[in-house]
Amino acid sequence: MHSWLLYLLPLLIVLWLYTRGWKRRDRRSREALAAAEEAGLREPVSLHPVIDPNRCIGSSACVKVCPEDALAIIDGKAELVNGSACIGHGACLTACPVEAISLVFGTEKRGVDIPIINPNFETNVPGIFIAGELAGMGLIRKAAEQGKQAIDHIKELRTNAPDQLDVIIVGAGPAGIAAGLGAIQHKLKYRLIEQEDSLGGCVYHYPRNKITMTAPVNLPIVGKVKMSEIRKEDLLEFWGGVVKKTGLVVKYRERMETITKSADGFIVKTSRRSYRSRSVLLTIGRRGTPRKLDVPGEEQPKVVYRLIDPEQYRDKRVLVVGGGDSALEAALALSNEPGTQVTLSYRGEAFARVKQKNRQQLTDAEGTGLVRVLLGSSVSSIQTDKVAIKHNGETLEIDNDWVIVCAGGVLPTPLLQQIGILFETKRGTV
Ligand SMILES: Cc1cc2nc3c(=O)[nH]c(=O)nc-3n(C[C@H](O)[C@H](O)[C@H](O)COP(=O)(O)OP(=O)(O)OC[C@H]3O[C@@H](n4cnc5c(N)ncnc54)[C@H](O)[C@@H]3O)c2cc1C
Ligand code: SF4
Repeated sequence: MHSWLLYLLPLLIVLWLYTRGWKRRDRRSREALAAAEEAGLREPVSLHPVIDPNRCIGSSACVKVCPEDALAIIDGKAELVNGSACIGHGACLTACPVEAISLVFGTEKRGVDIPIINPNFETNVPGIFIAGELAGMGLIRKAAEQGKQAIDHIKELRTNAPDQLDVIIVGAGPAGIAAGLGAIQHKLKYRLIEQEDSLGGCVYHYPRNKITMTAPVNLPIVGKVKMSEIRKEDLLEFWGGVVKKTGLVVKYRERMETITKSADGFIVKTSRRSYRSRSVLLTIGRRGTPRKLDVPGEEQPKVVYRLIDPEQYRDKRVLVVGGGDSALEAALALSNEPGTQVTLSYRGEAFARVKQKNRQQLTDAEGTGLVRVLLGSSVSSIQTDKVAIKHNGETLEIDNDWVIVCAGGVLPTPLLQQIGILFETKRGTV
């Protein structure tokens, strides 16, 4: 054999293996793109990457770091395939070796309303401040930093009136927690209210054991907290410890409902009472308030608006309401728990805008009797141990221990616009 063949042969084999792998990846990416297109999941919700195809070298660095499988390489270039899965935390931007990625808000089709705030986080309504994700920054560290910085400015508005708070902080996510700690540090008269029964905001709703990627953050009183990758549960435990150690008071299950201007500040009406406050800091994020069913019996503690831990529902009779991916994923997760009886009720006649994978798994689960699916149905009342559901002209009475409503959220934008806060609609801009 010629000696050059000895070198050429391995080279050809490597080239063949590389091309085969490349073609396989490309095929998988195209399949993911087609599935996302079919399910209407291409449009990003808010902050997301745009890739400059002239710069992109197809290194896959962004694809590898994306925890949500939102990106793929097609024709040798990165593409945002599953836009609706993007959480906008920008790991792809940092990973790109040739700076081909920038993060923008909204798209031509779907504008994103961002409140107009000044560098002190104050809106055009003097005395109302906004920090964290609602202000447009979708990261734990950034939200916490903004909460702290906003309070540094709010402290200048301190009041001497005995029956008035210096600040009411709405929302106990990362921004609200940091703001609350800042309020203690500056000895402000504060209230921190949270509509849920736990702190953490978005983090509280991450899937179980999700690895959260964050960066060191400087919290008031606590000091520098060094963390990079941490399990959701550990992060919540850390914050729980901070609350205990610092005496931060969080009023749970209290929802801000309206804000009205008074002579010397604001009157904030919540689901429990009214407060007079010199200023208001909104750290309410972008998830909004869960959409309700508005049916008799919904106020019972057995009605919740998000599945956190499927194990909790083992051996129980659970009704899931909704027709989006979160409803299907909740029903499927529950169907894997031993002894759990799952019913899924949805108003629509078909699950139109969901991932193909979820639709298929639900069909399988229905086929094997693990989930009972009631399309074209609506819940009419919830009793202690039953639910009444209208379906095909009849009212079904189903034995029930828990109701999980996954019907999306009501965004706070209209409420804030009513107070006079101005928004800018971003359509693919930074
Ligand atoms: C699936 C997912 C994964 C993510 N992963 C990461 C990650 O790995 N790393 C990272 O840095 N970021 C990540 N993020 C983004 C990060 O979680 C958010 O940017 C951050 O939580 C925003 O903090 P926030 O305090 O501004 O708002 P939020 O965390 O949304 O908190 C807002 C709080 O306000 C409360 N609230 C809302 N309205 C009212 C009302 N009317 N009255 C009373 N309370 C109210 C809400 O209940 C909530 O608790 C992720 C986001 C998602 C959705
Ligand atoms: S911003 Fe985060 S979730 Fe969105 S594509 Fe980049 S890495 Fe993935």
